[in-house]
Amino acid sequence: MRKYVIMGVQGSGKSVQAAALGADLDLVHISVGDIFRWHVQNHTKIGAQVRRTMAAGELVGDDLAEAVTAERLAQHDWNYGFVIDGFPRNARQAEFFLESYDIDGVIFLYLPDEEVRRRVLARRLCSGCGMDYNLIAGRPAEEGVCDVCGGTLVTREDDTEEALAVRLREYHEKTDPVLELFRRKEYVVTVDARPSKEEVQQEIRKSLGLPPHKD
Ligand SMILES: [Zn+2]
Repeated sequence: MRKYVIMGVQGSGKSVQAAALGADLDLVHISVGDIFRWHVQNHTKIGAQVRRTMAAGELVGDDLAEAVTAERLAQHDWNYGFVIDGFPRNARQAEFFLESYDIDGVIFLYLPDEEVRRRVLARRLCSGCGMDYNLIAGRPAEEGVCDVCGGTLVTREDDTEEALAVRLREYHEKTDPVLELFRRKEYVVTVDARPSKEEVQQEIRKSLGLPPHKD
């Protein structure tokens, strides 16, 4: 049984790495963000709560994240273990989580703020079909035009310098104390998130003493 927490700022490739880690090792990927999205799409009570919070421009509360995580883990479908993403949210939850679930390690995908800025500000979205583009890695054939539907590419409303600066500040305020606690207890392996997806995955496995990733 292997139980990991994965941490990293937006754009660090957390979900991709967690999924790749889980695929051949049979670890269940538990993403708190995905669980919230599921609730919103399926119009559950929790979904309504999440929708209200986001409409007010606030972050979903730590307690709600804790409740959905506990509920998800209580399904006990993780016979070989799990990789959890989006939890714990604060030092109290981290302490409790370590003790209750006997966590094997914390993977921290390190991405410097200036690289987050570069990646996020290069994102574009098709106003026609919603297809995502990235001006660094996934340029359209013709500048500003969607390859799929010919629609105009636009910047997401919250992908401005100012909005991103606010998100980065909030991210550090929230995450740094959790990471600090995990570090003190010597659970953290730090992996540079800047190389290719495959290189990052192999580095994660090497750091955790796991067999190499095969496609
Ligand atoms: Zn399009």
